[in-house]
Amino acid sequence: MKNAAIVLVCAFAAAAGVFSISWGQVEGDFARLEVRAGGAVLAVLEKEEGVFPGGTELKEAFYVVPEDCISCQLCISTCPVEAISVDECGKAVIDPALCINCGICAGSCPVSAIHPLNLEDCSLVGITPENDEIILQQGFEED
Ligand code: SF4
Ligand code: SF4
Repeated sequence: MKNAAIVLVCAFAAAAGVFSISWGQVEGDFARLEVRAGGAVLAVLEKEEGVFPGGTELKEAFYVVPEDCISCQLCISTCPVEAISVDECGKAVIDPALCINCGICAGSCPVSAIHPLNLEDCSLVGITPENDEIILQQGFEED
């Protein structure tokens, strides 16, 4: 049974990839841009030589919706690569660099707070110097 689980993990790991997304020129005075999904921050973009980059890459990985997480920590011990930690608010956080996209943690979550990356669910959010948040784009397609 254990071998079957390992084979399953490897099969999902082989399916993990990297998505490239892009957007148009960003107008407005923002301190940074964030790519989010369900309130989870998937990428943070700073200005490069005074201009925001016009796109980024997202590794295919699962993420936790912070508002849904009840901090039970059940998911943490299920991850075969120790990609899940707890943030300062007690919410589970998945490190996409470590995640192999197996989905095991999602099955363990009692409140369905863990989701696979779906570009249609992602948004580009501008954060102003006053920390206001403005949605600049909702949903992406892979480049
Ligand atoms: S199992 Fe679900 S609710 Fe519990 S810590 Fe993990 S993401 Fe949060
Ligand atoms: S975080 Fe979840 S989907 Fe990613 S490797 Fe761990 S168990 Fe698998």
